[in-house]
This record gives sequence, C-alpha cells and structure tokens, in this order.
Amino acid sequence: MESTMIESTISNLVQTQRNFFKTGATRSVAFRLSMLTFLKQAIETHEEAIYEALKTDLNKGRQDAFTTEIGFVYGELARMEKKLRRLAKPKRVGTPLLHIGSKSDIHYEPYGNVLVIAPWNYPFQLAVAPIIGAIAAGNTVVLKPSELTPNVSRVLREVFETAFHERFGVVIEGDADVSSAVLEEKFDYIFFTGSTRVGKIVHQAAAKHLTPVTLELGGKSPTIVHRDANLKLAAKRIAWGKWLNAGQTCIAPDYVFVHEDVREEFLRLIEKEAFAQYGNGVGVNSYVKIVSDSHLERLSSYLPQGEILFGGQVDAATRKMAPTVMTDVDPESPLMQEEIFGPILPVYSYREVEEVIRFINGRDKPLALYLFTESEAVQHRVLDRVSFGGGCINDTLMHVAQHNLPFGGVGGSGMGGYHGKFSFETFSHRKGVVKNTTKFDLPFRYMRSNTDSKWMRY
Ligand code: NAD
Repeated sequence: MESTMIESTISNLVQTQRNFFKTGATRSVAFRLSMLTFLKQAIETHEEAIYEALKTDLNKGRQDAFTTEIGFVYGELARMEKKLRRLAKPKRVGTPLLHIGSKSDIHYEPYGNVLVIAPWNYPFQLAVAPIIGAIAAGNTVVLKPSELTPNVSRVLREVFETAFHERFGVVIEGDADVSSAVLEEKFDYIFFTGSTRVGKIVHQAAAKHLTPVTLELGGKSPTIVHRDANLKLAAKRIAWGKWLNAGQTCIAPDYVFVHEDVREEFLRLIEKEAFAQYGNGVGVNSYVKIVSDSHLERLSSYLPQGEILFGGQVDAATRKMAPTVMTDVDPESPLMQEEIFGPILPVYSYREVEEVIRFINGRDKPLALYLFTESEAVQHRVLDRVSFGGGCINDTLMHVAQHNLPFGGVGGSGMGGYHGKFSFETFSHRKGVVKNTTKFDLPFRYMRSNTDSKWMRY
C-alpha cells in the first residue's frame, strides 16, 4: 500500500473508533465483559494457529508457548472477568472534618481510544495482556504487533477480526514506518512495550497530543549471588531464567555478580544446569531460535568481547546460539553497555556488596534485579539502595507471573505497570468527585466582604 493510503486508512480507523467511543457503548461493565468473552472465544478458536505461529516465528515448543504466552493470557482473562464488576465500582474515600456532610468517591473512567504497540519476544502475551486491561477499563483498542514475528501478527489480526468490530478493536500490522504513521494520530492512551530507544520516540509522539503513556522497556537486569546463597538453587533458577526463550526475555538476568569466595563453585554449577535444562542449545529441537539474522549477528559480535567459559556455538542455518557464559568482559564493551537480549551471560565477581550496588547505580535503572542470599541484612541493603522495576529474592522471572504485583520499569526501563488489577487501573482515569449535602451549609469557607472598606463598596 502507498504510504498516503496507509495513513488515510489508519486515520479512518482511529476516527471510527473515536466516534464509537463517544456513543458511550463501551462504558457499561456488561459490554466490557462480553468483549472479554469474545476475545477469549476467539483465542480458543485460534489456539492451534497461535501455537503454530509461535513455532514458526520463534521455534517455541507447546509447553513453553502455553506457559509463557497462551496460558498466561487465559489466566489474566479469567481473573479480570471475575473481578471486573468490583474493580469498576466507584471507591468511597474517607471524609476529613473540613468536608463534613459530603461523600467522596473515585470514579474509574475509560481514557477513550487506546493504542498498544507490542514487541516480538513474547509476541502473543505482550500484545494481548495489555489489551485485556484496556478493554476491561472500557476503552477501544488499536493493536500494532511486531513485524519481526509476522505469523503471530497475522493470527492476532484474525483473532481480533473474529472477536470485534473494527470500530472497537483492530490490529494494524506493519513495521516501524506503519508504527510511526499510527503514532501521528491522537490517542487517549498509549501502551508501548519494546526497546528504550523506540520508547523515547513513542514518548515524544505522545507528548505532541499530551497523551499519557505506559512504557514497558528493556535494560540490563543484574543478578547478585552472595556468599551465603543456596548455590545449587541459584544456578538452577538463573539458568532457567536466562536461557528460557534463548535469553530473549526483557527481564532475563543480563549479567551476574557472584561473591568471589563461591565463584568457582557457582560457575561449575551453572554449566551443569545449563546443560541439564537446555543441552547445547543449537542441537536441541525445542530450544528457541534467535528472532532474526540481524539479532544473531549482533549477538555473535559480542562473543569476542571476553573469555567464553562454555557455549559460544552458533548455527546460522537454524538461527540458534548455545547457552553461553563469559568472563573477563570489559564493562565498557558493547556486551556490557547494551541490553544483551540473547543467551550470553557475563559473570563478574565481587568482594563487598557495596561494589555491586555502586556498579548498578552507575547505570540506567534496571527493569529487574535478582538477589540470591539468605541474609536479611543484604536483602534489605540492596532493596533499600537500588532502584529497579521489580524482581525476586532467591529466584528469577517469577515476579512477572505473580499477578498481585504490578509489573513495570522505572527510569530507563520504563514507566507505569500492569497485570491483574493494575492493568485495569493503568487504563482508567481516576476521577475524584465530592458530593456535598444541601441539607446544611457551614459558613467558614465563604469570604465576607468588609462593608466598611471603601474599596469593597459597590
Ligand atoms: P522495538 O522497540 O524494536 O519494537 C517494539 C515495537 O515498536 C514493534 O512493534 C516495532 O514495530 C515498533 N517500532 C520499531 N521502531 C519504531 C519506530 N521508530 N517508531 C515507532 N514504532 C517503532 O523492540 P523489540 O525489538 O520488538 O523488543 C525488544 C525490546 O523490548 C527489548 O529492549 C526488551 O527488553 C523490551 N521488552 C520489554 C518488555 C517489558 O515488559 N518491559 C517486554 C518485552 C520486551
């Protein structure tokens, strides 16, 4: 399609949604619940196609695809369906003495027309999970999936076409140019998941219309293994979290700091665990592939930037890279300056926790942080001194699956959060309303003109 044609198509779609929102149809909870049901039914109808698309685009196996994508979305849908009526009710707040006689409530109202831009790494989950919040809060939605996972993008369009009329929910497929054209339009809320670089572009585009945003971005998530950690479990959980999705997880441990007293033992254990869980990666059928040739080239260029302790094998034909641990990496090298987003794990050692805190605080605020220690004092110190989006003590990744927690970044790793009830809140404006009594009227607040003053005489 010609670019002007794309732009006018996008403009028309957005205008159609704007008109539909103005009818007020999306405001009733019954309507929102039916839309969530239609979405769930359409996903169920397309479930096989979603599995196939995830296999083709990323070589994701069924179990992996269910746990991290489809099952995750079903969970969010089920909880939202159960809780929506309660969430959508106005919430009464306390009445201070000054307001005696009145009642105050927070009313949750939809923003209006929402745009969701999604990445490729969990291309189904990260597109649909925010949509659930947007619908639950009573908004219309435009979804722009990633062009790097074209099969998932197509199935998402089919799911939307089955579930919704385009005046309520529509998928616009395409690359960065299409995304830029969509961003020219005025939306009432933008929810973006992707890189920090593009997050800045989205934020600027949103600023032109004063549109509020949630930015779910990336970054380098540190992992600390202290001297007193349960090393075996640490190695097992770090290996799982790092090499799941071949390291292409926004909250994957990016690098590890291990206490020097336990360094050798930890390195031995993580090698064992990497092999036990993922084999040599490249030769394993179920191991996830790198999303594109250019990402594989980027990751391959990191390999000479330190010592490879194990791994390092690359199969260009299947686009796979083995689970890899590297040591002696210069912190100034691209490997340690850029988000790795692949199966390479640099490991450093430290003597004092303070060194690690200084190292992390000298960089952008990370999306996640993982700390392995039995010491409450060390836990407290790290939580108190380091700002990060969210994370785990003695585990990796699991905070993303704890739906009672908000999930999101801070600083360079983003702003805002979602999941569970936080998704509803993210897509709702909180309108504070005082309803006063007319049965009596306290006189104190009113100005009294001084009738003796010559300035106040009429
Ligand atoms: P990306 O920023 O390249 O692309 C994300 C989306 O933005 C895609 O839909 C893409 O088409 C669009 N886009 C690309 N360039 C654009 C431009 N110039 N203008 C407008 N839109 C544009 O990110 P990606 O490579 O798809 O995903 C990987 C990144 O996402 C990593 O940094 C990762 O950490 C991050 N991520 C964050 C989270 C989170 O929840 N915080 C989750 C997954 C991924």
